[in-house]
Amino acid sequence: MELWQKMLQASITSPTRLTRRYGIDPRPLADVAERYPMRVTPYYLSLIQSVGDPIWRQAVPSMDELEEGSCCADPLDEEEQSPVPNLVHRYPDRVLFMVCSECAMYCRFCTRKRKVGKENMQISRDTIAQGLAYIRNHPEIRDVILSGGDPLLLSNEQLEAILKELRAIPTVEIIRIGTRMPVVLPQRITQALVRMLHRYHPLYLNTHFNHPDEITNSSTKAIARLADAGIPLGNQTVLLRGVNDDPHTMRRLMQKLLSIRVKPYYLYQADLVLGTEHFRTTVEEGLEILRWLRGHTSGIAVPAFVIDAPGGGGKIPLLPEYLQSLGSEVLLKNYLGHDYRYANAQPKEEELWQVALQA
Ligand SMILES: *Cc1c(COP(=O)(O)O)cnc(C)c1O
Ligand code: SF4
Repeated sequence: MELWQKMLQASITSPTRLTRRYGIDPRPLADVAERYPMRVTPYYLSLIQSVGDPIWRQAVPSMDELEEGSCCADPLDEEEQSPVPNLVHRYPDRVLFMVCSECAMYCRFCTRKRKVGKENMQISRDTIAQGLAYIRNHPEIRDVILSGGDPLLLSNEQLEAILKELRAIPTVEIIRIGTRMPVVLPQRITQALVRMLHRYHPLYLNTHFNHPDEITNSSTKAIARLADAGIPLGNQTVLLRGVNDDPHTMRRLMQKLLSIRVKPYYLYQADLVLGTEHFRTTVEEGLEILRWLRGHTSGIAVPAFVIDAPGGGGKIPLLPEYLQSLGSEVLLKNYLGHDYRYANAQPKEEELWQVALQA
């Protein structure tokens, strides 16, 4: 057994294991862990500095998970948009393909809390074969995102079998992997894994750091291996109350990501997922964080701030109000709140006709 597999086996899967170390009453939390599974790797546990800190809040069940939410178990209508089990086809040219039902750690805020790590998430050879057949039969799909669960919880052989099949489909241009392994079990990023991944380029990997304390020597080393294999690395962060909902923490996170060669990709407004209401911030707070980034630090440190639209409308970007008005003059505000004017170009002749015809 490899080190990462041993570490996975040594994970905590019940709150009782926390009692001795932290002196908390595990009994009420056991009910929560019944409903939504718990698993924390010894590595991630070692990052906790005190009860209730940002690392703790992401990993340890809370009574708040039993509160009623603003919406439902599947606010993004993923099940409605799945033509075959575990494959979401929402956008014209790309799909989200869930190839593993488990994760090394069960994040308390997970958008797929309704099924990840639970019995109702059934992934088998058969569902994977159905997903591959769907992609093969839909040549408009040029981008496949492997997700789950965590695809890197599969063995190298299992994952390679899927990558090989995908690469045999000529219409698939790029493959992306979404994984939280570099954050919660960086020991998974072995030399053997990256050597294998390297054979399936163009391959992109998006990881999921939410707090600067998650960037450690171990995660830095794991990320360096991936980057050295020529895999472009992005990061998706969820805006979470009590974890990263302040501009200073977020700016430090984005800057630290760049220093380990990861490009911040998305900052998500929290979804309306049942059992995660206590993590939600207002949209205004997200916009304020974005206003703190743009112009104040490297442009490449600024992710796109998006709301994944309830009902399956996809990701919708939000920006603070830089554009004040449009017309022959464009009125703008810069990052310091100063006003600027930009003289607009003359519209193309055809556009003028269209305006005239509509009048
Ligand atoms: C997020 C997502 C994608 C990928 O979106 P990009 O903006 O291309 O990164 C694709 N399909 C589904 C269902 C998604 O949720
Ligand atoms: S790693 Fe991703 S899929 Fe798994 S529990 Fe965390 S957020 Fe959910």
